Amino acid sequence: MNKKFDIIIAGAGPAGLSAAIYAARAEMNVAVLERSTPGGKVMKTAEVENYPGFNTILGPELGIKFFEQAMNLGANFIYAGLKSFKKENDTFIVTLENGEVIESKALIIATGSKENLIGVPGEVELYGKGVSYCAACDAAFHKGKEVVVVGGGYSAIEEAIFLTRFVNKVYLVHRRQEFRADKKSVDKAKANPKIEFILDSVVTKINGTNKVETVDVKSLITNDIKTIPVSAIFPFIGQTAESKFIEDEKLMNSDKNIIVNEKMETTVKGLWSAGDVRVTPFRQIATAVADGALAGQEAVKYLELLD
Ligand code: NAP
Repeated sequence: MNKKFDIIIAGAGPAGLSAAIYAARAEMNVAVLERSTPGGKVMKTAEVENYPGFNTILGPELGIKFFEQAMNLGANFIYAGLKSFKKENDTFIVTLENGEVIESKALIIATGSKENLIGVPGEVELYGKGVSYCAACDAAFHKGKEVVVVGGGYSAIEEAIFLTRFVNKVYLVHRRQEFRADKKSVDKAKANPKIEFILDSVVTKINGTNKVETVDVKSLITNDIKTIPVSAIFPFIGQTAESKFIEDEKLMNSDKNIIVNEKMETTVKGLWSAGDVRVTPFRQIATAVADGALAGQEAVKYLELLD
């Protein structure tokens, strides 16, 4: 017999945990699926300065608070990823990556997104040996050294600033002059004497035998390539939706983000999506939490009508 829940939530990031908090408070039997550590990408974020209620809070501290709140309200955590799902009558049959099959009447997909790779030689080979996608996890290994950060979004700017607490110098390599991060954050980075901006430039190669030793950076204006000695490179060049398990292409846009309405509903009855995995103009902890609250609440209302 498959285990049965009222609501299955795939993903324990801010969106999934917020949905779990709303659903569990309504006394639903909730299962939250998570492949790694609950908390999601927040766990890899150094400091959060734009989540209401906290002037500044460490990402992992906030992630743990979300997780503990959901757990204390009675949400069940299953440490396995979502492999596939199908709907039979009004029941979702959900297969997990560990082979287990569970069921629910409502399903919320809040699986987030994963980091994009630059796609240059050395990136995969030297992963974990100086190539890192998590400054909070690895900054301390590069105390007193010089590192490269790639990107011009919030992640690149915020993580570059965080890294300066440990390293002597951050080369921030970005492919154009304009940034996706807001002016206040960019100005803060520009005012930091430890950050050197290398604009209109891209990383073309990461060099080293057993660890990162140098990074080749090419100017898109002159085509000149400079080899910079560094101990690490942190690419922060965006995210791709974690939606591989969705078979029905019509549920997603061309970037594989899930399409929802203002209530986080998909076109399948009983199926919602929330947070970074959905089509959204703004990917923040605050917006993910709001999405999750809506999806959780709407799922509760749906189940009450179904009974
Ligand atoms: P992002 O906003 O998508 O920015 C990605 C950056 O990487 C862009 O500057 C982009 O350049 C550059 N890039 C993309 N592909 C590249 C390539 N192949 N080579 C070199 N550069 C490349 O990604 P993100 O910073 O990871 O943020 C993801 C989402 O999370 C965003 O919606 C962001 O707002 C949100 N976020 C929010 C916070 C916060 O509010 N505290 C913190 C982190 C992230 P172009 O600009 O030229 O395209």
